[in-house]
Amino acid sequence: MQKKVVILGDSGVGKTSILLRYIQNKFEGSNLPTLGASFKSQMIQLPNENDQIKLNLWDTAGQEKFKSLTRMYYQDAEAAIIVYDITFRESFDSAKNWIEDLRNNANVPDILVAMVGNKCDLTDEAEVALEEAISFARSVKAEIIKETSAKDATGISELFLEIAQKLYKKQ
Ligand code: GDP
Ligand code: MG
Repeated sequence: MQKKVVILGDSGVGKTSILLRYIQNKFEGSNLPTLGASFKSQMIQLPNENDQIKLNLWDTAGQEKFKSLTRMYYQDAEAAIIVYDITFRESFDSAKNWIEDLRNNANVPDILVAMVGNKCDLTDEAEVALEEAISFARSVKAEIIKETSAKDATGISELFLEIAQKLYKKQ
């Protein structure tokens, strides 16, 4: 079984870094490589099931600067990860627009939505509290809400495992 997963959110929130941490277990402070125009695949073993699932993880090549993505990017996606930067309030406010862009363009009706507050290693600079993000996530029917750090790896493997498990159960 394979599933398309797209990653959304303002430029600079750490989308590419999250994927780089998950796929290669690496972090780059600068000179981030692009993951390429299309997607990277990752097999994931499901605990308690004698089964695995392949996630096709799509990253943007910087088009999110224009605040929306093409229909092709969203086409057939079964999960969407909406990332904001916990140290940059504006990126959290943008999540609303990303949800809207997703709802306008995604063709899978019950697409799984995950809200992710990245850069949680920078707690001293936090501008968005987790409780606020949880209530926002509920209001937009996001089924997963997590804080992550691509830098120190907090929450990253758990995020993708939770997505895989929820997608598997929807089958
Ligand atoms: P994108 O534009 O959303 O793909 O964001 P990038 O992955 O290119 O990251 C933008 C900048 O934030 C880069 O300088 C990263 O090194 C940095 N960054 C990404 N994730 C984290 C994180 O979890 N913690 C910290 N401290 N910096 C991060
Ligand atoms: Mg990027």
